[in-house]
Amino acid sequence: MELLAPLGIVPDARMLARFRTYFDYLTEQNEVMNLTAINGEEDVYLRHFFDSLCLVKAGPVSGLTLLDVGAGAGFPSLPLKIAFPELKVTIVDATQKRIRFLETLIAKLELDGVEAVHVRAEDFDRKSGYDLVTARAVARMNILAELCMPFAKVGGRFIAMKTGDCVAEVAQAESAIKTLGGTVENILHYDVGPDRDHALVIVRKTAFTPTKYPRAFAQIKSKPL
Ligand code: SAH
Repeated sequence: MELLAPLGIVPDARMLARFRTYFDYLTEQNEVMNLTAINGEEDVYLRHFFDSLCLVKAGPVSGLTLLDVGAGAGFPSLPLKIAFPELKVTIVDATQKRIRFLETLIAKLELDGVEAVHVRAEDFDRKSGYDLVTARAVARMNILAELCMPFAKVGGRFIAMKTGDCVAEVAQAESAIKTLGGTVENILHYDVGPDRDHALVIVRKTAFTPTKYPRAFAQIKSKPL
């Protein structure tokens, strides 16, 4: 709880009840499908909920439209939606059973303004529409940039949530990011409990992404930008 104050989040009863419902349903469904390797109340709250909320270190999110690419069990977008109900969230994920999990979860949490779409990012058609595009633990930066940047509007941002030493990975992706119409604005390092290697890679979209991107996944993978 004391971790939330520096993020400018003041939890109320409804917010805490929603995180509890999230934890309970995630834990229950994790028994029957592969949703997360992180178990137990303390770790889920820290490594999923708190880590997701750390996105606000890159600036306020309330009221923005957010696309979360490969959200899996809902990270980072659903904890952000719970803390900032004015956020408008679209989730895309390639795995049908995770989307079904999310649809039930969204109903249990009684959240408005969240949709979960079963589609691969590279096949999603709402280009240049979002204030903010996020992805946590989905792909390496050069591949991830092509999966995410086409969907941010010019002036908007793509923020990748990374662990480990991502500086070299980002350097390798610089030319891909440039081709896609962006510039790396900042890499913000932060701690999640004892883990000191988390980072937000903040990319500003400064120009339209050429319409040929994103390419089909086979091409993205075999010939990364
Ligand atoms: N962001 C979550 C889940 C990470 S696991 C978290 O941090 O916990 C990666 C997820 O990305 C999986 O659910 C997988 O289905 C999804 N994914 C991988 N490639 C994708 C693509 N091209 N388009 C949409 N989803 C994708």
